Amino acid sequence: MKHIVILVAGWLCLSPLQAQITPVYLDETKPVEQRIDDALSRMTLDEKIAVIHAQSKFSSPGVKRLGFPDLWTDDGPHGVRPDVLWDEWVQAGQTNDSCVAFPALTCLAATWNPEMARLYGTSLGEEALYRKKSVILGPGVNINRTPFGGRNFEYMGEDPYLASRMVVPYVQGLQSKGVAACVKHYCLNNDEEYRHQVNVIVSDRALHEIYLPAFRAAVQEGGAWAIMGAYNLYKNQHNCHNNILLNKILKRDWGFDGVVISDWGGCHNTEEAIVNGLDLEFGTWTDGLTMGRTNAYDSYYLAEAYKKLIKEGKYTTKELDEKVRRVLRLFYRTTMNRNKPYGFLCSDAHYEAARKIAQEGIVLLKNEGVKVGKGVNGGKGDKEGKDNRLLPLDPSKSQRILVVGENAIKMMTVGGGSSSLKVQHEVLPLDGINVQCSMFNVQCDYARGYVGDTIQSFDGVTVGRSLRETRSQAELTAEAVEKAKQADVVIFFGGLNKSDYQDCEGHDRKLYELPYGQNELIEALVAVNPRLVYVNISGNAVAMPWADKVSAIVQAWFLGSETGTAIASVLFGDINPSGKLPFTWFASLDQCGAHALNAYPGTWRPDHKVIDEEYKEDIFVGYRWADLPAKAKKAKILANGSVPSASSVSSVLFPFGHGLSYTTFKYGKLNTDKPQMTPDGKISFTIEVTNTGNKAGAETVQLYISDQKASVQRPVKELKAFQKLFLQPGETQQATFTIDQSALSFYDEEKSEWHAEPGEFEALVGTSSAKILSRLTFTLEQE
Ligand code: BGC
Repeated sequence: MKHIVILVAGWLCLSPLQAQITPVYLDETKPVEQRIDDALSRMTLDEKIAVIHAQSKFSSPGVKRLGFPDLWTDDGPHGVRPDVLWDEWVQAGQTNDSCVAFPALTCLAATWNPEMARLYGTSLGEEALYRKKSVILGPGVNINRTPFGGRNFEYMGEDPYLASRMVVPYVQGLQSKGVAACVKHYCLNNDEEYRHQVNVIVSDRALHEIYLPAFRAAVQEGGAWAIMGAYNLYKNQHNCHNNILLNKILKRDWGFDGVVISDWGGCHNTEEAIVNGLDLEFGTWTDGLTMGRTNAYDSYYLAEAYKKLIKEGKYTTKELDEKVRRVLRLFYRTTMNRNKPYGFLCSDAHYEAARKIAQEGIVLLKNEGVKVGKGVNGGKGDKEGKDNRLLPLDPSKSQRILVVGENAIKMMTVGGGSSSLKVQHEVLPLDGINVQCSMFNVQCDYARGYVGDTIQSFDGVTVGRSLRETRSQAELTAEAVEKAKQADVVIFFGGLNKSDYQDCEGHDRKLYELPYGQNELIEALVAVNPRLVYVNISGNAVAMPWADKVSAIVQAWFLGSETGTAIASVLFGDINPSGKLPFTWFASLDQCGAHALNAYPGTWRPDHKVIDEEYKEDIFVGYRWADLPAKAKKAKILANGSVPSASSVSSVLFPFGHGLSYTTFKYGKLNTDKPQMTPDGKISFTIEVTNTGNKAGAETVQLYISDQKASVQRPVKELKAFQKLFLQPGETQQATFTIDQSALSFYDEEKSEWHAEPGEFEALVGTSSAKILSRLTFTLEQE
């Protein structure tokens, strides 16, 4: 940095004649591509080799001789990871890296509000700038194929369109600060358990229709400057050096001009890395400091081994120059960009952004009248009915609140793998509720209820508060049940917790059921007090066999620094919930296509080195599978050699796009500007929505398209547009959706291109994928 400042300062003092000798690569008036050519022509072979592989856990070298600073990356995607030691994962113990944790990306997706994604990106970009990081390793846009996915919490749900709309503004927001997004994990990284060994077998249609669109949007619309290759294999080639995915699709078809960075340890072979599209190698084995080698980074696949092949004449510098060119482009976009704004860490605005996103992402899954028995203050039976809904909590009726569950007191920003953070502060759910209770003079008690994970530390970042518990489960249950009998309302905080197998990098979940005996505890509590609100903390759906008995269910994700404040504001009604599920909440695992067809985790090859995972459900992921008529599902299951069960064909617990509000909305009738659409034209749909309740609220209006007749099997319907309307009580607004042929297209495997077949289509508008309120048909004309 110093070098550049001196060079540039010097240049400003030069006479016009002298100024002419400013090297092109430093001349900011020159086009970047010219500057890249010039820089490239001045670099030695060693310098070129140096810039394409790491020099420490998270940095790669610049070209110091020419004034290019080193490039520092960092995780991502929910906040800027604390600095680690040069060669080790353990945190370095800095005092300036306690950050704001933003909600996990599942929560961001649940806002269904692209403006929240932009806010997320710009806020995170400012934190990254303060920390002098030029590349943020995120966001993640792998599709939620199974609720077992250990990293689903870091991604944006099951739908390619929703993920696409959300990733674009995140990338743009982040990069507007001069910080590169490194969109990950490209691609098909849907199995965390065997992420290094999985060879994905997937049809071209599913690849292009389901698994690629969000990456493509990030590249072509978001203009992402970097992409992280995934660990897994596709067509028997590791994705960090995969000819089809990187050279053909990403770079040739999509025109990606950024840098492909390997996931940490995802590079396995020098020659494949040379020719198959990898640009910058990170995280390959290093024993660095621990074994005392001079520089283990020289042993990287794209280091000495590559140089040797060039020296021996096996390769020219053609491929190398192309990689360096891309890396230099990244330098100009980030480290060499002198117009970057200032960075801020832990600013009020960042906390406000984290809180807003959390509040908008919380999903009210269920809010019904209390079913039986006990009334306010243990009084006579409440009547079942809408007016008897538990939420929002009414302090005049809920004078004694009991909070139960470990997740009410557990910090969730520590744990989960590489997205783990060191936060300046994190408001725990119980703390948030206590603040609200004290405002209303409500009594708040707490019972632990169950013991989950008490470790509370990750890579040397340790949570001060101990979760040690010595009582037996029987004692904990007895305490919670006794206290519940006395309470006006019980708020249970359960779910998963980012420890191994519970929404955590490195493993998938083993069970769809809640861990740690939570089901039994909930049943015991609801038996003595039906006024129970269940708040689920997770990035995935879980089985809720007791869902019918519980009146209110809230999905509260992993919400970051402002967790407690955001949850309490929704429970007490300061905020009217408006989140919608970014994935289908299956009642049981066999309702998910991948599991119904026994297509997870796959079959090990005899040498036990590779596991082939065939995506037999094809394009029928999430609601696309749930939508299939029972007969069609049965046929697919039978064709796969399995026997369908009753649960596998019954309806899901909560559909994709579902989310309730404290107010009510009335939908008008769907209209269109024309009944027929030309192949190169557009068609618009409008629908009025009125807030018919007495609270301001937001409703996400969803447009699905259904192809009435096609030459290939198509999903019953697919999300193609949505709009979040913010409505005052009594207010009516119009949602307008304009689509073109791309919204009607499928990927034609024979021609390897997108194709829309003329004929009849249906536009369906609804409040979730299962609740369609208005529809109309239109026609796509022949070419
Ligand atoms: C993860 C990446 C992460 C990288 C660096 C890998 O294990 O898969 O998502 O960015 O580590 O921490």
